[in-house]
Amino acid sequence: MSKIINNHNSRFRWTILRKIGGLSSILILIVWGIIIYSIIALKHIRDDLQEIAKLDVPLTDVYNKIESNQLELQIAMNELLWLNKNINNLSTKKNIEIKQKLKSTKGHIDKQINQGTGLLLSHREDHPEFKAKFQKINSALITVQKESHTLHSIILEITNAIDANNYPEADIIEEMIAKNAKFDSEVINLVKAVKEFTSRRLEVVEKHEHTFLMINIFLGIIALLLSIFLSLIINGNIQNNIFRLSQKMSEVRKAITEKNLFIPASNRTFSSDEIGDLELEIYKTIKIFSKEIHQRERLSHYLKKIATTDQLTGAFNRFKWEEMLRFEILRVDRNKYSLSVLVFDIDFFKKVNDTYGHDVGDFVLIEVVKIVKQQIRVTDSIYRLGGEEFAILAPYTSSEDALTLAERIRKSIESHIFEYVTQVTISIGVTQFKVTDNPKQFLKRADLALYKSKERGRNQVNILFDS
Ligand code: GH3
Ligand code: MG
Ligand code: MG
Repeated sequence: MSKIINNHNSRFRWTILRKIGGLSSILILIVWGIIIYSIIALKHIRDDLQEIAKLDVPLTDVYNKIESNQLELQIAMNELLWLNKNINNLSTKKNIEIKQKLKSTKGHIDKQINQGTGLLLSHREDHPEFKAKFQKINSALITVQKESHTLHSIILEITNAIDANNYPEADIIEEMIAKNAKFDSEVINLVKAVKEFTSRRLEVVEKHEHTFLMINIFLGIIALLLSIFLSLIINGNIQNNIFRLSQKMSEVRKAITEKNLFIPASNRTFSSDEIGDLELEIYKTIKIFSKEIHQRERLSHYLKKIATTDQLTGAFNRFKWEEMLRFEILRVDRNKYSLSVLVFDIDFFKKVNDTYGHDVGDFVLIEVVKIVKQQIRVTDSIYRLGGEEFAILAPYTSSEDALTLAERIRKSIESHIFEYVTQVTISIGVTQFKVTDNPKQFLKRADLALYKSKERGRNQVNILFDS
């Protein structure tokens, strides 16, 4: 494990920790972005609103007052002109009131203009968007002030004439009317300039608020998508890998229980995270394990074979004979089918050894087993009981069928041309299993039948039903 981790450590890899950590960091950065952006944007909006509160609102108040004063002034002037058309009214109480009003209105207008000028002087407009509009207010206010002075100097001239009991000249009255109209239009200009300035400012504030909202929604959606992506990665990555791992483990378990050779697919690339490490480790362990199981299986198969098989002829050995005989007898007891045994011995085998040597004797033994195997069914089996004596266990075979089989085997050996020796014969004893038999009795009866065959001149088959 440490070797693999070291190998991986030498280059950058996307471990689960890094995947989750990376995405979480981006997520945190976005959240921080939203917070910082919100603070800055809110500060801008607050500054804008403060500007409005500090300048726009009082400025609007000033021009409203100037406008209403201008109206009052106009009313007072009209009243004055109407009253004084009649020279008798020149010193009436009403006349004095109107003159008083004209003076105070001028005072009010001057006060408002001064207040407006003060506001404009205290404000430095740096924003390029509002600079031109701000200057327009400034110049409109200066013009209003100028026109107010001109108008009032004429009003003063008229009131002075009235005070001296002279009705003012017609041309000076006309001039006053003209100057008043001029003053009026300049006040309207000022109102327009202020309106333009404040409404534009409100628009900009609204635009700021809108942008702020849109950017926050956009960042919020990105954060949401990222968190969904993050949870999908965590889910998908870990879940899929663990699912694959558990699948592999169940394959291994199945292979072990079924004692199959298990070689997992090796052309897979493993993910570069910790689960990939684990998977690679399990894969390697399974590979070693499979090899081990395979070797053990082969060994146990080999051991079983040499423990139950005769090395020379390939027939089963005595040990296997004992086991199979007991097994078949049990089966016969339970299932009630017939079981027969054929015991055979090579005739004058000593002579073969003596004449042609032990190797030829061995060769004959091998050949005999080969020939017998060709004659028996798959359910039959041949055992070397010792030396050159063999037994054939034939389940589902009655004594009659066993006799036929024995005869066929005998003939096939007799007719076979053996190398070196030319002819070999065998004597066979046959018997069928009886429910009263134990294994020993069963074999003993077959041996007796074989003995009979030897006694009666060899190369023949004898059967015994009772012993
Ligand atoms: P019979 O017809 O009465 O059976 O005569 P026989 O010569 O076959 O007599 P017996 O069964 O007594 O002889 C068996 C001989 O088989 C004795 C032994 O030397 C020989 N033999 C036993 N096992 C082997 C073996 O593995 N290889 C060889 N070549 N000979 C063996
Ligand atoms: Mg013999
Ligand atoms: Mg013998």
